[in-house]
Amino acid sequence: MKVIDHLRKSKGTLFSFEILPPLKGSDIRSIYAGIDPLMEFKPSYVNVTYHREEVIYKERGQGLLQKIRLRKRPGTVGICAVIKAKYEVDTVPHLICGGFSREDTEDALIELNFLGIDNVLALRGDPVKSEPHFIPERDGHVYAEGLIRQIAGLNKGHYLHDEEQEAAPTNLCVGAACYPEKHAEALNPATDLAYLKRKVDAGAEYLVTQMFFDNKKYFDFVALCRAEGITVPIVPGLKPLTNLRHIGFIPKTFKIDLPQAYAKELVKCTTDAQVKKLGIEWTVAQAKELKAQSVPGLHFYTMGRSEAVRAIAEQLF
Ligand code: FAD
Repeated sequence: MKVIDHLRKSKGTLFSFEILPPLKGSDIRSIYAGIDPLMEFKPSYVNVTYHREEVIYKERGQGLLQKIRLRKRPGTVGICAVIKAKYEVDTVPHLICGGFSREDTEDALIELNFLGIDNVLALRGDPVKSEPHFIPERDGHVYAEGLIRQIAGLNKGHYLHDEEQEAAPTNLCVGAACYPEKHAEALNPATDLAYLKRKVDAGAEYLVTQMFFDNKKYFDFVALCRAEGITVPIVPGLKPLTNLRHIGFIPKTFKIDLPQAYAKELVKCTTDAQVKKLGIEWTVAQAKELKAQSVPGLHFYTMGRSEAVRAIAEQLF
């Protein structure tokens, strides 16, 4: 079933979560270990992230370096198909522009269609670490908007290079990302919002936010979206901070601020256990307030660890 139908049919706030494919060489059972503890809360759908290949250099002796393209977390589409069959839950594979030509994208979409997967979250992807800015694949999309247009086109039976042929349309529900605190590369919130509107006009049926820790940012952002004419559901994305490392990299990586009341308590933490306890408490409070305001869903970023999300879900769903 499509995410948009889940959102439309639901009488309350839905529960969903995002997982990462395991590191290359891991067993598929490592995925189940992250999902099993969350299934009793009846997620409406499970997202699986997509990870672009990275470029690494290996020393080969005599001053020689070998350039290697390595995908550390392959398997997004296969994992979606397996989870859908095993748990009878809808899955949402993430699809990115980076590393994909339009033909690669079309192949991936045909594969999803054949597998009976009804959803896709369409993203641009970040620049690879070795590049100063996002560089699309030759003939690939520069922005998520182009990817969304391609999916929307395929949903009307418009395949690449087959203008004359009668082709079976796909029926994929497309979601897209949005950023209550602005995307890091956007010139300002207004331009970011204008481009977001274009993604929705191109065919994004709902939006999922980047994580945020201050609900006011979400509420203000939704109000700005509505004023801009963006009427689709905007699902808040939440991430409980669970260890000291998170404090260092999450604000920097995702370009988000922590509210002062939270930051004041976090700086007192000296152990992972303290960060986790506080993270669960903070996220529960955030989620309760969002739920009380009838947000369409609560989408949790597990980053491969489900204990904290389980502790939160126990208090909410
Ligand atoms: P876009 O919407 O293309 O926007 C990118 C930038 O370009 C923004 O600054 C925007 O303002 C600007 N822009 C947009 N459209 C235009 C236009 N037409 N002309 C000019 N400028 C424009 N990354 C992954 O690699 N894998 C994942 O699985 C993944 N999952 C994610 C899930 C969620 C819910 C979120 C919020 C992010 C996720 N990301 C993922 C990260 C995402 O790929 C990055 O944030 C990326 O830098 C931007 O992706 P986007 O789809 O928002 O890009």
